[in-house]
Amino acid sequence: MALDYILTWANGFPDAAINSFQRALDTWSAALTSNVAVNITATWGVNLPGFAAVCIPNPVQNFQNRPVTDVWYPSALGDKLANQNLKQNEPDMNVFFSNNVDWYTGTGAPPQGEYDLQSIATHEICHGLGFVSAFWELPGWPYTGSYGNQALINLANQMVQGTGQALGFQLPALNNQPTVYGLHIQDLKGDQLTNTGAYANNSVNLGAPLVGNNLFFDLNRYQVYAPNPFVPFTSIDHLNDPNSLMRPSIGPGVRVRAVDAPVLRILNELGW
Ligand SMILES: [Zn+2]
Repeated sequence: MALDYILTWANGFPDAAINSFQRALDTWSAALTSNVAVNITATWGVNLPGFAAVCIPNPVQNFQNRPVTDVWYPSALGDKLANQNLKQNEPDMNVFFSNNVDWYTGTGAPPQGEYDLQSIATHEICHGLGFVSAFWELPGWPYTGSYGNQALINLANQMVQGTGQALGFQLPALNNQPTVYGLHIQDLKGDQLTNTGAYANNSVNLGAPLVGNNLFFDLNRYQVYAPNPFVPFTSIDHLNDPNSLMRPSIGPGVRVRAVDAPVLRILNELGW
């Protein structure tokens, strides 16, 4: 049992780009399993300030057979764990592609200056499958750190509005609750950032580690990207590893089309 997909191509997604995206889906289909098809909308050619592509997952919580209560799961993973489609008639994620970069859609090496669509699709789908932390930091010293903050949802909604295209679902208020990925983020002592005995949500105490580059997905395992200053939608949501699929960004002329072992182990720990 691999992964099956229900796909919607929005805003004139070109055939060559569809083929490239499909190869990324084949990679995930070979890596993961679910009894429920993953419903994906891919939106072409939009305005994305500062990003080549962005994936917004459809969040779900407190479903039947959930491993943890009051924790947000991407609906693709929630579907697998609940063994049913929890978001009928809605995509599990929407992947937006910028109209402001040169895309390479072939199977060879991307030329300098061109972004490899297959690599970036593979990376973005991984966010949609669970690589998303929902941590947030208010600018200005001393930093206030939080997770599940409405500011994060507001910024995501603002980004979607700027594309002029539909997201396909409503982003809920996260109610200051963590994501399943965020639950695993630990400091050097092994304290979870979401353990309120160690770090209160919406606190200066939580602000410091979010910019320390000393955070891990499970202690002593995988260091996550946590630069100073905090980068919305980038900090914590990536591995601090220049060779991983989930490096902070995949620049032009670079291809990384395989799922490396750390990324696969992290997804398995999330419930895949
Ligand atoms: Zn990313």
